[in-house]
Amino acid sequence: MAKITLKNLRHSYYPDPKGPQDFALKEVDLDWQDGGAYALLGPSGCGKSTLLNIISGLLVPSEGQILFDGQDVTTLPPDQRNIAQVFQFPVIYDTMTVRENLAFPLKNRGVDPAIIEKRVAEIAEMLEVTDMLDRKAAGLSPDNKQKISMGRGLVRDDVNVVMFDEPLTVIDPHLKWKLRTKLKELHQRVSHTMIYVTHDQTEALTFADQVVVMQLGEVVQIGTPEELFERPAHTFVGHFIGSPGMNVLPAEVKDGQALFAGRAVALEGPINAGASGQLEIGIRPEFVRLADTGIPATVTRVADVGRHTVVEATVGTHKVAAIQNGPAPQKGDEVHLHFTPEHTRLYADGWIATTPAQKESAA
Ligand code: ADP
Ligand code: MG
Repeated sequence: MAKITLKNLRHSYYPDPKGPQDFALKEVDLDWQDGGAYALLGPSGCGKSTLLNIISGLLVPSEGQILFDGQDVTTLPPDQRNIAQVFQFPVIYDTMTVRENLAFPLKNRGVDPAIIEKRVAEIAEMLEVTDMLDRKAAGLSPDNKQKISMGRGLVRDDVNVVMFDEPLTVIDPHLKWKLRTKLKELHQRVSHTMIYVTHDQTEALTFADQVVVMQLGEVVQIGTPEELFERPAHTFVGHFIGSPGMNVLPAEVKDGQALFAGRAVALEGPINAGASGQLEIGIRPEFVRLADTGIPATVTRVADVGRHTVVEATVGTHKVAAIQNGPAPQKGDEVHLHFTPEHTRLYADGWIATTPAQKESAA
């Protein structure tokens, strides 16, 4: 196993890129620590598969380097990188049995037959396919084929990293949850570095200790699920993670004070020097309260989602979502919105532009 370093990576699928818009990866610098459970999260087309294929060696980047434990592997072919990759669609040998499919990556490397038998049995049990071991893969359902495909990725215990590229796409919804939980368990057991690519925040947040969020060929934030929720570094992260996502509201700054709809809004701390460009206030619905004082708003929608109520209120032409745990208002009610200052931030051109106030220590 190894620490994986990506240094000044850029990739364009065009032979002669003209500008940033021609790069599928704009500039990526990233360390994947040995043994980490990572998710690579972002919308379709943001460059996740491109990044994965560069790590595995299926693609050579236009610029930059990939290091495994400090050793440059940028131009090494996939079979010399000692990695396992599981794709969106099953990659298995139809004419082989399930057992032969699972054993293949080990047999290929001349592993002792007794060890192969033991590993195959372990993986089969974990994926609940033991009863299928002697069936031909050709007859399996798409779900089961993908399970075998995942098993082939997990069966070796000497790989640098196991990478999953949206592996649950073809899996039945109720099985998805189960497999995700299993993967997490397995990670804790084998402590391989794992990178799990997905566009689904739930998948990312349940699997990973560290989530790498990408947008338009760039990494916008790396953090634990809590960090991404608590303090999004970019409005995209705030919006993409959470349900509903963070409110992103147009702002103005006058004399060091942030204003929304002409009213002063208290922030988590001072605005960074030089914050300019498109200014926005970011506040998660969880931290918007309906109060006696604050920004006047009209309730335009109330949705009971079980554990709580999502209230949509309108301030001028702007919609603000608020999560309410107590009694819910009615559509048409005139209310006041209070933004919890510790969770209210200014963003400039998408990036966070406030610094949290120093907490006063109780002396
Ligand atoms: P993701 O996996 O996040 O959906 P991809 O890495 O597949 O994103 O794609 C990133 C960008 O690169 C997209 O704009 C996509 O259209 C483009 N792209 C991907 N593969 C190729 C290719 N083989 N040739 C040209 N463009 C590609
Ligand atoms: Mg992809």
